[in-house]
Amino acid sequence: MIRYLRLLFLGAVFSACATMAADSLDAAENKALPEPALEKVADGVWIHKSYEIIEPWGPVLSQGLVVKTDDGVVLVDTAWDNEATKKILALIETAAGEPPKAAILTHAHQDKMGGMQALHDASIQTSAYVLTNDDAVDRDLIPAGGWFGNTFAGRSSSFQFHDVISGASIDSGLMTFIPGPGHTRDNIVIYYESAKILFGGCLIRPGKSNSLGNTADADIANWANAVRKVAAEFPDAEIIIPSHGAKGGRELLDHTIALADAANE
Ligand SMILES: [Zn+2]
Repeated sequence: MIRYLRLLFLGAVFSACATMAADSLDAAENKALPEPALEKVADGVWIHKSYEIIEPWGPVLSQGLVVKTDDGVVLVDTAWDNEATKKILALIETAAGEPPKAAILTHAHQDKMGGMQALHDASIQTSAYVLTNDDAVDRDLIPAGGWFGNTFAGRSSSFQFHDVISGASIDSGLMTFIPGPGHTRDNIVIYYESAKILFGGCLIRPGKSNSLGNTADADIANWANAVRKVAAEFPDAEIIIPSHGAKGGRELLDHTIALADAANE
């Protein structure tokens, strides 16, 4: 029961993830926020990090992925807002030698899509699950320019983007997977097979976390099932990256399943 109450509390407070109040932005100006940064995890692969003040915790880290492929750089998720996203784009250009050509967004919350305008201003092709674009509009976020559909649910699909000059489709080497509702109904995960890296977004909880985090839009009853599908779809994934904490191994999948099962009791 205590656990249940704690989840309710966290859900209520942490729903700021979904709709960031102006208060928090004001607070951010008054406190020192860590600067946006990149963490290299493999050849041509980085985690991008940005922070937002969420009371009462203070700065909350959110992470996305950057992958440099032979045909261009692909970004997974924006930073919390446009300003931080612009800084991330500049860091990517320095680290990868070129700006991203395309971006995938992993669900419709501010920590993943708060910087959409910065991507569109930089002429980056953006793509998201159709439900993500639907929910983005409802949550005052800017939807992606392209979408992929329910036909991909439950099986992984290679993410392709268009070469602006030739118009040809380019295989990014990244796989998208729609596991079903968990953190949100539209959450997806991204797999980069070359480096055995799975970006789990907010569906996957950090190892140090003892709660499911923001459950304001969650399907707690299906959360463990969704993670089991991810684990089964990518048996070779070795590095697992969550949105809100340190990367780890496959134990993060088991940890999240355990948290979701506990939340269902
Ligand atoms: Zn979220």
